[in-house]
Amino acid sequence: MNRCPACGAERAAVLCPACGLTQEAAEVVLRRRLIVHTLVFLPGSLLFPFLSQLYPPLDLDAMLVFFGTLFFLAIFLVVLIDRRTRAHQDVELLKRIFFGLTPLPWVLGAALFLNGRLDRGKPEFHPTSVVSRFEMKGLVRGSRRLMVYSWRESHRLERLAAEPDDFARFRDGDAVVVGVMPGALGIPWLYGVYRK
Ligand SMILES: [Zn+2]
Repeated sequence: MNRCPACGAERAAVLCPACGLTQEAAEVVLRRRLIVHTLVFLPGSLLFPFLSQLYPPLDLDAMLVFFGTLFFLAIFLVVLIDRRTRAHQDVELLKRIFFGLTPLPWVLGAALFLNGRLDRGKPEFHPTSVVSRFEMKGLVRGSRRLMVYSWRESHRLERLAAEPDDFARFRDGDAVVVGVMPGALGIPWLYGVYRK
């Protein structure tokens, strides 16, 4: 028993009992849908690193790692679905996972943007000091990180996505105050870094 690539109904006959397509026609429908989903996913993926840094969450790096994993998983799924479809193998589960992933860059990006944009809270200020700084050239804007001792329990360090100016004016060991906003959706984000 195989599933129809287009509608997912179980099929034994030449024509799918649910959508009436032949196997070949159903594969064309599936391929077209894969392309549309990929065209939704890719711009969202390109936009996410920028959207996520307008109001950078404290845990930006963890989110970027999660997002990178998501990106490679989606690409892997497209290739796998395409190969299995060509071999007339079942793709129903893979297809559902992929179609579930494709809006995520937009959803996550919008969530981080709105978390900052709609924030009506007041910043909290945490005194700490700079441990180190690092910069990865050639990557997106948020590749500068100011490492400071964390004020949060169960965190030793904070990797702050500092503005270029802030990044340039601090040195290792400087006493600083970090402003943190609560976030409209409860995701704390970096408001600014100031000299103590
Ligand atoms: Zn069908």
